[in-house]
Formats: sequence, C-alpha cells, structure tokens
Amino acid sequence: MKRGHPSKRPRPLTALAADPEGRILELPGFQAVGMAGPEVFIPLTTSDTIVLPYGGELMMLPGRRPVVLDLESGARRILTENPFEPGQPLFAVSAFNSPGYVHAAVSAFVEDTDARILPLFSYDAVGWQDGAFRTPILRVDREPRQDLRRMPRERVVAGVARMRRRMPDNRLRKHLERCALEYGCPAGKNFFLGRYEAPLPTSRVCNARCLGCISLQSGGEIRSSQERIDFTPTAEEIAEVALTHIRRVPNAVVSFGQGCEGEPLLAADVIGPAIRLIRRQTDRGTINLNSNASRPDLLAALLEAGLDSLRVSLNSVRPDVYSTYFRPHGYRFQDVVASIDLALSRGRFVSINYLNCPGVTDAPEEVDALTAFIRIHPIDMIQWRNLNYDPLRYYRAMAAAAPLGPPVGMSRLLGRLQTAFPRLIHGYFNPPKEKWHR
Ligand code: SF4
Repeated sequence: MKRGHPSKRPRPLTALAADPEGRILELPGFQAVGMAGPEVFIPLTTSDTIVLPYGGELMMLPGRRPVVLDLESGARRILTENPFEPGQPLFAVSAFNSPGYVHAAVSAFVEDTDARILPLFSYDAVGWQDGAFRTPILRVDREPRQDLRRMPRERVVAGVARMRRRMPDNRLRKHLERCALEYGCPAGKNFFLGRYEAPLPTSRVCNARCLGCISLQSGGEIRSSQERIDFTPTAEEIAEVALTHIRRVPNAVVSFGQGCEGEPLLAADVIGPAIRLIRRQTDRGTINLNSNASRPDLLAALLEAGLDSLRVSLNSVRPDVYSTYFRPHGYRFQDVVASIDLALSRGRFVSINYLNCPGVTDAPEEVDALTAFIRIHPIDMIQWRNLNYDPLRYYRAMAAAAPLGPPVGMSRLLGRLQTAFPRLIHGYFNPPKEKWHR
C-alpha cells in the first residue's frame, strides 16, 4: 500500500474489500462509501473521517458485498468480485471502533440472499488514505477508561492473584476473574487493576428480550457474547467487592447492570441491602445502576438505600421503536419514563445509554422526539453507544415500527443538542459524582 503526505483538500478514501481468506484489499479507482441510513449512501473523504483510533478492529462481513463509488464513471457499484482479479469473490469490510466515538456511517453493503445475521458488533464504515485506515466517527469521550494500552494482561493477572488472596470465598470476585481473563471485559479488568469503574453483576433474569442482548440470545440465530451470571451474590459479597474498589480508587464508580447479567432492578432485594452496607462504611465513591429502568417501584427502594446515579438504556424515545428493539415483558415505555422522572425528582444524576445507529438515531422524527423528551425530562447526560447489531436487519425492523425520514447526520444531531441543551453532558462512560458539574 502506497505512503504519502496528507493535504488539507478533502480527498476520496480508497475503497476496501476482503477476499475469501479475509485479506483486506485496497481497490484503487473506487471510493469508499458509508451507509448513513436505509439506502442512504455517502462517499467517504478525508474531511468526514479520522484515522482509525487505537484498539479499533477491521472485520470481513461474510455474505455481504461492498457498495463503492466508481471514480471514473461516478456510478455507485456493488462489487461481487475483484475487478483486478476476475473470479475472486469480494466481501465487505467494516471497522469495530474503540469506546468513546460515535459512528456517523456504517459499512455500505448488500446481503447475499442466504446471508446469516451478523454477530453482535457495530459495523462502521472504513476506507484507506495517506497510508492509514480512516473511519467516519466523532469523539465524545477522551477518558482512557477502556484504553487497552493501559490494561496490560500481566497486570490484570497480578491483580487477580491479589484479590484471590484478599477475598478467597467471594463468588462475585471469582465471577469477575472470568469476565476479565476470559471475556476480556474492560470493566472486569479495571476492578483487578484498581482503575475507574468496577462492575457488580447481580441479576440472573431480565424482563426485556433485546434484539442485541449480549448475555442471552434465545432465538439461536445469534450467539450471545458472554454467559449470564448463574448465581445471585449476597449483599455482603457485593459490598466487599465495591468497598475494596472504592477504598483504593480515587473518584471510584461501582456499577450494577453489566453485559454479563440480566436486569439489576429484578435483584433489588439484594442490591438495596448491599448499597446500605456500602454507605454504612463510606460516603466515598459513586454507586451507579445501568438499567432498562422498567420498574420504578423497585428503583424507589434503591434510591432510598443510597443509589447515586442511574443510566437508562434506550435505542429510541419513540415507544414503538423502543418496544421493537427491547421487546419488553410485563412493562411499558411509560414505566421507563416514570423511573427517569423519579430519579430526577430525587436529585440523582441520570444518563441515557443511547444505543445509536445512523439512519435511526438521526432520523428527523427521532431527533424531534428526543429534543422534546429532554425538554420534559431534563436528563444530565447522553452516553453515546454504537449499537452492536446487524445494521441492515436493524433498519428493516425499525422501519417497520415507525417512520425513518432522511437522516439529519450524527454530527448535526450532536450540534443541535449542544445548542438546545448547553448543560447536557455528552460522553461514553459513567462519570463519578466529582465530575457531574452540577
Ligand atoms: S435489558 Fe439488558 S439484559 Fe435485558 S435483554 Fe436487554 S440487553 Fe439483555
């Protein structure tokens, strides 16, 4: 691949594709294209992309053919075989970007008729220019909380040994070992490294069936990324892990509601006492709940016990779009809103964990609904999380649920929110109370 110096004039990114062995190929004469919504294709240039940040991974998409722009004819094309090596099949390529970045376009591809659904990752657009992979993403959080360069395995392993000696019988500590060493969970690693935020997975069950649930997939078409916790830790086990973290980490955060569990509100009977045990010992640290916020009645008990902050997962603030993704069982979108209002009324810090996908999140109908929502329910923060789900399957499901007009663009959406709500924090990670800027 050729090297050269960048100039300021926006230049087209060269398209990429993969051969059947998964080798990434540069396709000179063809421009990389991103998908900013259903059938919304945008040619990528150096001005709307950045160099792929450290930790990003490239993926070959089986059963998917790249959509590119032919620079000679100006026509958009679907490449099923290599124009430079006739007969060699080509497959689409995408980038799975690091935390802290919002994707503005996903990889542009068409599916083969027999294509299986893609596993649970985000599939961001990517191209090549000036000797580097470039991708259309926007940075929203600069904190190195999950920067892999700061989490060397040998230090994680040493931390595991230290905690094993310190709390040999604690089953939650043991569960987190698997999270850190086998699943590579950054939150699990941070507990053993004594950094930022520690996870407190507790719940074995959930009352939602999210299309992209990473801890339980029942349909069999997609594999879940990790197994759901198969026991309920005691309040004492939870408090021991939490206090160990809070006592040794400045501005520590401890969080219920992790990828390896169900809905923590459904374990309120053990989480409430755990919070009381922690607060009996210290008022340091931030006790946070990542939740689908489905049960305001159970949340009330946790707020009473001393919960500091709430993060509510939403793919949309439009009930039909929400229900199509979360597939709630025994609750409604209005219950989620009631939980948000309850936490705000108690002066807690409330974030939404906004599962975003260009074309759905920045559909004008969603933008209007979100703006109206924040006016009525003045949340403190939006945590922008790129949706880890097959984008074409997601578009089809969401388009069936509600109108998806021409997207306004993720960058424009962020700009509009910053203008309309100057105090609203945009980021990726649960901030400690020391950084709530209230
Ligand atoms: S709320 Fe969480 S645990 Fe429940 S189905 Fe959705 S992703 Fe899975």
